[in-house]
Amino acid sequence: MTDNTILDSLQRPMRDLRISVTDRCTFRCTYCMPKEVFGRDYVFLSRESLMSFEEITRLTRIFVGLGVRKVRLTGGEPTLRRDFEKLVEMLAGIEGLEDIAMTTNGSLLTLERAKALKAAGLSRATLSLDSLNEETFQSMNDVGFPAAKVLEAIANAEAAGLTPVKIDMVVKRGVNDHDIIDMARHFRATGHILRFIEYMDVGTTNGWRMEDMVSAKEILEILRQEWALEPADPNYFGEVAERYRYVDGQGEVGIIASVTRAFCGACTRARLSADGELYTCLFGVKGHDLRKLLRDGSTDEQIADAVRAIWGVRADRYSEIRSEDSIGLQKVEMSKIGG
Ligand code: SAM
Repeated sequence: MTDNTILDSLQRPMRDLRISVTDRCTFRCTYCMPKEVFGRDYVFLSRESLMSFEEITRLTRIFVGLGVRKVRLTGGEPTLRRDFEKLVEMLAGIEGLEDIAMTTNGSLLTLERAKALKAAGLSRATLSLDSLNEETFQSMNDVGFPAAKVLEAIANAEAAGLTPVKIDMVVKRGVNDHDIIDMARHFRATGHILRFIEYMDVGTTNGWRMEDMVSAKEILEILRQEWALEPADPNYFGEVAERYRYVDGQGEVGIIASVTRAFCGACTRARLSADGELYTCLFGVKGHDLRKLLRDGSTDEQIADAVRAIWGVRADRYSEIRSEDSIGLQKVEMSKIGG
């Protein structure tokens, strides 16, 4: 660990930075940006309120100076941001930053785009895909976007070398839990890593209910009816997915159990919203306005001091202390701070 790494009040280092580059999305996934809320009248962030690429790069450099080694670009849908490749290129020039990844729904990831992103310095891509069944998937994204097109985007990411490609599937009871086996069968032996995500109570608009969440335990039981799986060690400290290897050597799957097996104790993630608010937890209620500092003439050192102070008192462990009371909090939307 380098000397400049900052620790929070629970001794957790700041290692990862998730940056939302836009709050807009091409999908209206019912569990994330339900149409009833994010409809025609919804007011998205204005152009001026979004951080510019220069501002994002400056902040990232400051965060790297405080111990961050990995950046994940997300949203909303990150590829919606115009000249997104340019941002990747600017970030790739930051010394000490080891890894730049992206989470995308794939709707705009042509082969040309994937190659341009790779050339700009993107290392890896995670694509979200909740089902291979067209009816299920299209009703979940709620804009009728075909699963077949996301499969093309996955192939594009692979062809461009944005590997290992990870595929994230949010499992919602009665909606797509019957697709767990199909998804696993499809991605086994492809080299891609399928990860099942417990449906989480992020934000306030998705009407989350505990009974809609399919637990890691249940997901594993379903998989084990079909294949023998053995636990694998985490790749690094703080890895969010629990890894399981197919005993027959056909690859691995991951399970992100942020509801039933909270991993707050190893959470090294800071999150920036597209308008420059720093959140120290995915389930945060209040952000810290860094854009103001970027725009009021503060020096890098002053901004670094502000971040140090915020991280230094960080005590968030929402998932570990989730309760009936906390579920109703006015938490920030996933579309604002990304996954
Ligand atoms: N638009 C991009 C995408 O779809 O990958 C990036 C942003 S999206 C908010 C990031 C991830 O969060 C997606 O995989 C999405 O399925 C997941 N997500 C959104 N709401 C969720 C929830 N309530 N519980 C679990 N995962 C969720």
